[in-house]
Amino acid sequence: MRIVLLGAPGAGKGTQAKKLVDKYKIPQISTGDLLRAAVAAGTALGKEAKACMDKGELVSDSIVLGMVEERLKQDDCKNGFILDGFPRNTSQAEALDKMLASLNMPLTCALSVDVPFEDLMKRLTGRRTCKACGQMFNVYFNPSTKGNSCDKCNGELFQRDDDKEETIKKRLEVYNAQTAPLFDYYGKKGILKSVSGTGSIDEIFSNVCKVLGL
Ligand code: AMP
Repeated sequence: MRIVLLGAPGAGKGTQAKKLVDKYKIPQISTGDLLRAAVAAGTALGKEAKACMDKGELVSDSIVLGMVEERLKQDDCKNGFILDGFPRNTSQAEALDKMLASLNMPLTCALSVDVPFEDLMKRLTGRRTCKACGQMFNVYFNPSTKGNSCDKCNGELFQRDDDKEETIKKRLEVYNAQTAPLFDYYGKKGILKSVSGTGSIDEIFSNVCKVLGL
């Protein structure tokens, strides 16, 4: 199973990807997470990326493609993978197709998680992440019962720099202009499937599995 997850920021791709990882033991490759790790590590690449990320813009294709290629070549991707947040534009999608053709691992499916545009803003501005374990909460829809600490591990919750209102507006604009054309791209290839991203996490996951034939 080699999947690309499509959907706007805040659609819940990451949450569904984590559930697929738990159930099917294939890795999630999130370019956002890889970039945030590079930022946290203070590498030159991370510093270059952070400026774009804080503005809600896309990081250059060359940075992202290099990271993805390196990751896809690792052993744990042999049985499949879930790409989350990548590709983000048509040139990344074309580069991915070439990369996967050379690795003899074509995509099985591009799965879109659909959420009405009006809901995305609240989902993103309300999002909080645990510093210790990465568990995500939402102050409107799914708050931690421990306030600003994680329900699971008591770690401190924080708001991502790019989840502030101005940056979110920009991220959604960038999504509409650059990422939305990928629906057409994968539709034409006949591998596009979609699920509704509204409802409980488990309901959505059950539909994800159904659509993927799992
Ligand atoms: P995400 O966590 O996927 O919403 O990504 C957070 C930020 O990282 C985005 O707003 C971009 O600045 C950057 N980013 C993540 N994935 C990509 C990608 N595939 N191409 C370019 N920039 C990306």
